[in-house]
Order: sequence, then structure tokens, then C-alpha cells
Amino acid sequence: MSDKLPVIVLVGRPNVGKSTLFNRLTGTRDALVADLPGLTRDRQYGSGVHENRAFVVVDTGGLMPESADPLAALAEEQARMALEEADHVLFLVDVRQGRVPADEAIAKHLRKLGKPLTLVVNKSEGRPRAEASADFFALGLGEPLTISAEQGQGVHQLLTAVLEVLPAIAPEPENDDGGVRVAIVGRPNVGKSTLVNRLLGEDRVLAADHPGTTRDAIAVPFEYDGHPYTLIDTAGIRRRARVWEAVEKFSIVKTLSAIERAHVVIAVVDAQNDIGEQDAKLLGLIAQRGRAMVLAVNKWDGLKPDEREQVRYQVSLKMPFLDFAPLHFISARHGSGLGELMQDVQTAYESTTREFSTPELNRILEAAVEAHQPPAVLGRRIKLRYAHQGGRNPPRIVVHGNQTEKLPESYKRYLANQFRAALALKGVPLLLSFKTGD
Ligand code: GDP
Ligand code: GDP
Repeated sequence: MSDKLPVIVLVGRPNVGKSTLFNRLTGTRDALVADLPGLTRDRQYGSGVHENRAFVVVDTGGLMPESADPLAALAEEQARMALEEADHVLFLVDVRQGRVPADEAIAKHLRKLGKPLTLVVNKSEGRPRAEASADFFALGLGEPLTISAEQGQGVHQLLTAVLEVLPAIAPEPENDDGGVRVAIVGRPNVGKSTLVNRLLGEDRVLAADHPGTTRDAIAVPFEYDGHPYTLIDTAGIRRRARVWEAVEKFSIVKTLSAIERAHVVIAVVDAQNDIGEQDAKLLGLIAQRGRAMVLAVNKWDGLKPDEREQVRYQVSLKMPFLDFAPLHFISARHGSGLGELMQDVQTAYESTTREFSTPELNRILEAAVEAHQPPAVLGRRIKLRYAHQGGRNPPRIVVHGNQTEKLPESYKRYLANQFRAALALKGVPLLLSFKTGD
């Protein structure tokens, strides 16, 4: 058992179908992406779930030569780190192009890397398996698996085969008494360690940091305002608590693993530095996972009123999809704003784990429809009949009716807002889906 999610890394030259496969592997999140306007899918990192097992997928975008563009270079560095962190590499080739010299070059690199690997022959739809794979045995990487990323053939079998041999993340107990599991995530230097120290008390962090701990993340129990919590700590935060340690390399995989294990994520951004694309990407990953989230804008101390205004504007501009997350302006250094922050962590936890009764949901639906009828389509009114809860964490509500596929986005949004308000949901994305028929 491990604390880190298994990492599956996609490599292959351009156009073999890596991003198509990436979308398929992380596809269960499509509904969330659709429900959070402004959220763009991170094309490089994503998480997926297959038969109840979560994993991280990384699309390296190919193995490019070093780039002069700093953003591309950053992505490349992340990709190489991911390859190092990879538990399994999927090497994609394109049956329509056949085996080309670039494939040989990548194969050579991968043989040197020595990671567990599956050779995947993509675009194999409509071809017998033996024929599709014949050309690629010569790469010397064992027997290829044939798939069609676009049509989905072979993908299920591929995942089953890969995950079978990977370590599973230790499942979190449903009802342990460690209280709310909290992960604190953000770019380096935004103030995560400082915040952890504030919440736990300096000594606790150091005490937890005993040598010999080889796990990637540890769980540290603490109490705040009389409530029990468990901090899902990443090694990065823990080590940074010792001032003499070098700056920990930022690892998206560790961050995603912490997000996976947490009930509520405290996402930290730095008010005294540009709130930028990296922050938006990271917070996008939390939202895509459907995790409850509270946003902490740290280093609020020492900012002039007009600077504060500018920060508020930047947050709303760059992260419009976050409108479900309560916003807190805090100073980890001075300890201000933390009480309110932690109160909202509690509320977010309650929101994401709550069970709604069907009569309650139906009353809300009825009131919403009465106040504002769905439009008529070609003279027939769209009917919404009843609602039930489809899931928790994040909450999902399913509304049944007829012609629901014709409901305009604006009306769906109206309904989501009505449910959100009536159920007093805070800090969680609400998934609303519609079913036509009885
Ligand atoms: P990447 O550059 O490796 O990320 O490749 P993309 O995922 O962007 O795919 C390149 C092209 O191949 C796109 O036009 C895809 O629609 C197409 N493609 C991807 N998977 C398949 C497949 O299984 N079958 C076929 N016929 N086309 C595919
Ligand atoms: P981490 O990399 O996210 O864990 O960030 P640290 O907690 O190590 O903080 C990075 C730097 O920001 C350190 O120099 C902290 O002293 C400083 N810092 C953290 N919180 C605050 C704050 O609330 N206000 C100010 N002004 N500085 C802070």
C-alpha cells in the first residue's frame, strides 16, 4: 500500500493519440468540467478512476528537446519528473503510420529508463490484432496491446492490465474519528508551511517529522477550535518546516495524491505575488476532481487597499470556475483570518458528505419550477418531474423529466443555483444531471 497515487505516463511522438487517450482515461470528470464554466482541462495532468481505483495520468506531450520558452521548459521539467515518478509508462505508436525512426529513438530512451512499460498500438480499430501489432514487435519492448483511443476499444482491458500490477493507494476509512481530512496545496512559497505551523503549532510539525519516515505523505492529527482534523501532509510541506532544508521541488503528483486523500482542500495563493496560470491550473485540478475546496489568499498583511482590490479582481478573472469556493484573505504569518477559514472547512466538509432526502430535493425542484418555468420547445413544454441524489463527494443531483436534453444552459444554471442556495451548499461543486424518460 502506498500514499501516492499510481502514476501512468503517456509517451510517444506527436499525433499518435496521446491526448485522445488522456481524455478517455480521465473522462469520468467530463461532467465536472462541463459544470464549471471557465475550467479548462489540464492537458498534461489528470486523475482517473477505474473500478474504484484512482490513478494519475500524465501526458508528456512527447519527449521534446530542451526548449527556450520558459513555460514550455517548466512543462518539460514536470514531464521528466513525472517520467521519473512513473509507475508505468504507456508508449503509444500509430498503426496507420507504422513503425518510424522516431519510435525507435523513443524505444531506446525507454529501455534505458527501465520502467515498467506497455507498448500500445493505437488507431487499431477495424484491424485484426495480430496484423496491427506485427510491425511493432521489432521495437523490442514485448508484446504490444492494440487499442483505439478514439473509439475506446481495448482501453478498459489496458487499464485493468496496468492497474493490476500497480500498488494501490491505501483507501481512507469512511468513518475514522480523525475528523476532517485536510490537504493544503499551492505553488512553492505561497505560505503553506507557515500556515501548517500556525494551525498545528510549531512543535507538532517538527515532532511529526521524525527521520526514517519514507512515506510520501503522512497524516498528522490536530485540533482547531475544538474540532478534530487530520492534515494530509505532503513531504514537501513537512520538510520545508525545517528552515535549513533546500526548497522542495514542486510535485503535481504528490499534490494530486494529497487531493485524492482529503475531504477538503485548502488551496493557497500568494497575494503578494502574481496570481497566475500555475495557480489556475492547480486549482483547476482540485475542481476537476470534485473536491470540496476553500481558497486562502495568503500574505494579506501589508497590502494597501488598492492592491487588495487588484488581487480580488485577479482571482475572479483567472479562476471564474471557483465561484463555489469560499474566499478567505488571511495572513499565515500573523495568524489572521484562520478561524473563519477553518469554519468554512467544516462547512465544506458537511456540504460534500451530506445526504439529501428525496422529498427535500423534490420540494426544491417544485418551488424552482413554479417560480420560473422551463421554456417550451416547438410548442411542447419541457417537464421536470422529480429529483434524487445521485452521489456524494461531490454532491450529485439527478433531475428526471422529458425533453431534458433540450434544456438551455441558462435554465440548468438557474436550477443548480436554486439547489445550491436551498441546500446551503458551500465549498463544493454541485453536479446536476438530467434524465429523460419515466
Ligand atoms: P497526440 O499528439 O499524440 O496527443 O495525438 P492526438 O490525441 O492529438 O491525436 C492525433 C490525431 O489522431 C487526432 O486527429 C485524433 O483524432 C486521431 N486519433 C487519436 N486516436 C485515434 C484512434 O484510435 N483512431 C483513429 N483513427 N484516430 C485517432
Ligand atoms: P511554502 O513553500 O508554500 O510552504 O511557503 P512558506 O510557508 O515556506 O513561506 C514562504 C515565504 O513566505 C516565507 O518567507 C514566509 O515567511 C513567507 N510568508 C508565509 N506566510 C506569510 C504571510 O502571511 N505574510 C507574509 N508577509 N509572508 C508570509
